[in-house]
Amino acid sequence: MGDEMVKAIDLYQLDSEWPAEYQTMIDQVRRFVNQEVLPTLAQSNEDATFPRAIIDGVRRLGILELHAAGELDPYAYGLVLRELERGSSGLRSFVSVQGSLVMSTIEMFGSEQQKSEWLNPLGTLDKIGCFGLTEPDFGSNPSGMLSTATKTESGYRLNGTKCWITNGTMADVAIIWAKLDGKVNAFLVETDRPGFQANPIKGKWSFRASDTAELVLEGVDIPESNRLPKATSLGYALKSLNKARYGIAWGVIGAAKAALEETINYLKNRPQFAGKPLTTHQLVQSKLAWMATEITSMDLIAKRLAELNCSGKLEPHHISLAKMNNCRKALEVTRTCRELLGANGIHDEYLVGRRMLDLETVITYEGTEHIHSLVIGEYLTGDRAYM
Ligand SMILES: Cc1cc2nc3c(=O)[nH]c(=O)nc-3n(C[C@H](O)[C@H](O)[C@H](O)COP(=O)(O)OP(=O)(O)OC[C@H]3O[C@@H](n4cnc5c(N)ncnc54)[C@H](O)[C@@H]3O)c2cc1C
Repeated sequence: MGDEMVKAIDLYQLDSEWPAEYQTMIDQVRRFVNQEVLPTLAQSNEDATFPRAIIDGVRRLGILELHAAGELDPYAYGLVLRELERGSSGLRSFVSVQGSLVMSTIEMFGSEQQKSEWLNPLGTLDKIGCFGLTEPDFGSNPSGMLSTATKTESGYRLNGTKCWITNGTMADVAIIWAKLDGKVNAFLVETDRPGFQANPIKGKWSFRASDTAELVLEGVDIPESNRLPKATSLGYALKSLNKARYGIAWGVIGAAKAALEETINYLKNRPQFAGKPLTTHQLVQSKLAWMATEITSMDLIAKRLAELNCSGKLEPHHISLAKMNNCRKALEVTRTCRELLGANGIHDEYLVGRRMLDLETVITYEGTEHIHSLVIGEYLTGDRAYM
């Protein structure tokens, strides 16, 4: 995949308008993805393991350190995630969970001592974090969670099961959301504490190259200082999730662009009927034009999201619109690409099939399409339709 193809898909020349420092960042991440990520992914997918070797490369990019220092503005953060997801949705998720869900939660709701203990090693990736909100019986409706924290003499005792937790078996620290006296609170749990267990979830056909775990907490004792003092209701978990959803809206554009690039390259080199490349057929061009149009609209939505973020006007329904639209469109684009590659579209030699399957996770986590449509519906009508 040549870099020129990416520029060709940038129909509204949005990339050429980014300031030089963003361009340098885009190039740097793209080089890392092309040289170090893409060559490893087919094997990781086959083995159903997260390619740990690429953590070093993410560390070298310094993205999370900049994030911790507040030196990545919303545009830069979005562009970095978009470039990472050109490589894989699993890689972007690894970074999103570490940065948006774990570090941002500590940054926003942690004590000064928690910040000084954790933000630096998480930023350098010397420590890995995970975010445990979902439970086997409560995903879209986390307010029903069964996990509990009970006050002890020196702190809290945690009990419960969390499910589908990204980075779960690799994590050194887990942010666990659990009910304390009936109210959802967040706790930092070092994963080597007695009673804490992380079991890998096997049998996935999406996000195979991502670390997904069930976390079991059986009487895990933590000190008082491990409770995040400002995360005292479910609303705070949703604030953290909104940070991550912002990144997803950007990230999935990368998956769609990479799929379209691969598809155009493939079709140009595949002669069918009278020896003409498939790109010369009208039905094929119509699909390519539709995909390029959708990608352009996804880029414009993400850019507007960053503008709203920078001007302090970003609201949950803005994020829901972007997460919902961009995930759905990215999934449809990759599915169309898969179809255009014919039989080869289902083979691991090409990336389109894997991107499509991974996007089935991305459209589901951090709020399904239904849930985001209900957030927008509530904004439009004033009526809450979740129940
Ligand atoms: C690979 C992967 C990684 C993940 N990583 C994490 C993580 O790191 N941390 C974490 O906490 N969670 C994580 N999740 C969990 C994810 O956030 C949940 O799966 C998601 O919120 C949906 O919950 P659920 O699977 O329980 O589906 P359900 O809530 O059971 O929903 C099933 C279906 O019902 C629909 N539905 C539910 N309620 C309503 C309603 N009121 N109105 C209309 N339709 C409704 C949904 O839209 C969906 O279509 C991950 C999931 C996956 C697949």
